[in-house]
Amino acid sequence: MKIIIHRGTHQIGGCITEIRSNNGNRIAIDIGENLPPTHSEAKEEKEIIVDGLNKGKSKFNAVLVTHYHGDHIGLYRKINKDIPIYIGEISLNIFKMLQNRLLSVNKISEEDYKLLDKFHTFKNKEIIDEIKDFKVIPYMADHSAFDAHMYLIECDGKRILHTGDFRIHGQRGKAVIPMLKRYVKKVDVLICEGTTLTRTREQPMTEYELQLEATKIFKNNKYNFVMCSSTNIDRIAAIHKASISAHKMFICDNYQKDILKYVTTVTRSYLYNFSKNVYDYDKNLDSKMQKYGFVMLVRANSSSNNIMKNYPNSKFIYSQWDGYLNPEFTNYKRIQEFVPKNHIYLHTSGHADFNAIKKVCEAVKPDIIIPIHGEKPEVFYKLRFKK
Ligand SMILES: [Zn+2]
Ligand SMILES: [Zn+2]
Repeated sequence: MKIIIHRGTHQIGGCITEIRSNNGNRIAIDIGENLPPTHSEAKEEKEIIVDGLNKGKSKFNAVLVTHYHGDHIGLYRKINKDIPIYIGEISLNIFKMLQNRLLSVNKISEEDYKLLDKFHTFKNKEIIDEIKDFKVIPYMADHSAFDAHMYLIECDGKRILHTGDFRIHGQRGKAVIPMLKRYVKKVDVLICEGTTLTRTREQPMTEYELQLEATKIFKNNKYNFVMCSSTNIDRIAAIHKASISAHKMFICDNYQKDILKYVTTVTRSYLYNFSKNVYDYDKNLDSKMQKYGFVMLVRANSSSNNIMKNYPNSKFIYSQWDGYLNPEFTNYKRIQEFVPKNHIYLHTSGHADFNAIKKVCEAVKPDIIIPIHGEKPEVFYKLRFKK
């Protein structure tokens, strides 16, 4: 068995991992697009070509996608059409809603959208055993993308765990390590993300702590606008719960409301219950909003801007990566112009911190660790976990 990292050993995102069996059968894990360059002078990256995956006669038996972030799924349109692509069922449905929205503004083609109907889906822990020399079991991960999975892959008598992006401080964080100890157990190889390892050793705020912080802000301010990713369901759950505790209407647009309705129905979990206090904005709400106050999700677009103009004394909570606001990153001018200078920054990472990675290592006791999705893989040497 061979493991080949085509991209992702010295960068965040854009990951493509190959596992090749002794018989020459192959799977790819993630088919990520590079994240957009964070400054204007960054040179355009050459398109990645993997023989038999997105060029030439197909040599791959399947692609496994860990979650719907573009740096993991973005190249789906370029993959040879006869290679089956696997992803979690809920993941795919949320991704379809997002892509449908892009289709409506002509950012993707009808043809590309239709490709999603051919994806193969699974539920958490459902064994995938139809891929030649591979037995695959997906395990739910905690991440800022909903329904993200780690993959346990057995091939040629070896066990490999690919973590994808994960953390243990989100809504489902507490379940990650016990799940690894109970179901995954010892592995031969751990392919692990290391996004935050070069950034900080500080313990990240949990989504729950963020919710408490948001509650305080919403209690103290009548009119609140919040900017976060429409598919970061953990974050929206925290903001939604905070709005209930602060007795404020929670308002979003139609597209967002549809996603939240779907998540409520499909998960039936108290963590993601959006059945109460969710309003989609229309002008009839204005008088109530003026009178009672609100928490409203906004996006960098003109319709959000028009509503915000009516509330000059509102608070603006910026709840996503602050890198977009760096003035050197000229690709994000639209966001920078939209976000008021006096915003409140309230965010926590979607990625594992140093301790979380250490705990994963202690749970699955790998003989070999392959770091991906990080700028400095050598930082993994400092993990020194107990075997
Ligand atoms: Zn990623
Ligand atoms: Zn991600």
